[in-house]
Amino acid sequence: MKETFQDIIGAGAAVEHLKNALRTGAVSHAYILYGDKGTGRRLLAGVFAAALQCETRQENPQTVDRCGTCPSCVRWESDAHPDIITVTHAKKSKSDKRTDLSVDDIRRVVSDVPVRPYGSPWKIYILPDADRMTPQAQNALLKTLEEPPAYAVLILLASSLSSFLPTVLSRCVTLKINPLPAGKVEQYLQEKLHQEPGRARILSRFAAGSIGRAVELSESPDFAQLYGETVDLLRNLPHKDSYELAQFAKEYGRDRERMPEVLSLMRSWYRDVLVYRETRQTARLIFAGEVQYIIEAAMRAQEEGLAQVFAAFDTAERQMKYNTNLELILEVLLLDLRKYG
Ligand SMILES: [Zn+2]
Repeated sequence: MKETFQDIIGAGAAVEHLKNALRTGAVSHAYILYGDKGTGRRLLAGVFAAALQCETRQENPQTVDRCGTCPSCVRWESDAHPDIITVTHAKKSKSDKRTDLSVDDIRRVVSDVPVRPYGSPWKIYILPDADRMTPQAQNALLKTLEEPPAYAVLILLASSLSSFLPTVLSRCVTLKINPLPAGKVEQYLQEKLHQEPGRARILSRFAAGSIGRAVELSESPDFAQLYGETVDLLRNLPHKDSYELAQFAKEYGRDRERMPEVLSLMRSWYRDVLVYRETRQTARLIFAGEVQYIIEAAMRAQEEGLAQVFAAFDTAERQMKYNTNLELILEVLLLDLRKYG
């Protein structure tokens, strides 16, 4: 079954606002849900839209969650709800690579809004990446925002409000979705996705408060491989020969997108080494499943050596911005880590 309000954790003001709209019936015609990618904007929009349309819930407005069994809910479950429309960019040709909404996409919405809903009291449009609409596209939407039919609800999803025209903003209820504390994400991964505790902790740290990102990482075979290979390297770093380090640098240094993840994993590892060295406690370690290796490294490490390690990370990250030879940057870093770690 798709998510309901019960699955949304870290209930912030945005969630409360929408629940309240359901209870009181004071539903606005336009919302902007904004926050970092992966904070669950789209999830929340869907949960709200489906609840608004649920036939059982309409008879009993005090409940905020949809019933899951009425015809509206059944259609929603099977991705076939005619009155909950996610607007996507319609490609004009194969070479059309854009994904954000164009003026034409918005014009389609504008001409569809006056068509009454099929069988629901509401007709709901969800517009992802709405902050990437051009001013022209936003202007095209303006008329609908100014004079929406009673049944229309537009939910715009955005990273921030900065690129919206003031005229658009003034017509929308803006709701900010904040990232969750890492502990909440960790708990979610363990309880709902049954990730083992060590892995849940790593994923939650990497997801930076984003449930969506954590789920994506937990399901990503690429991340699993990257994690496995990086940890394997770090466990045995003192015994790795230069050829092995070069091979690793070759594999991950050619990938500008993955490289920050690799660096971030490695930096977290040494952060753990430092924490254990200072506190002699394992409870706060990120790599909860690698405790014996962290302890070994902490016993081995000299204070000065660890300072060199973090300096090496700083250097590598700085160079990454300017230098295109990521492979070399990574290889030099690995050699430093082996020497000082
Ligand atoms: Zn229902």
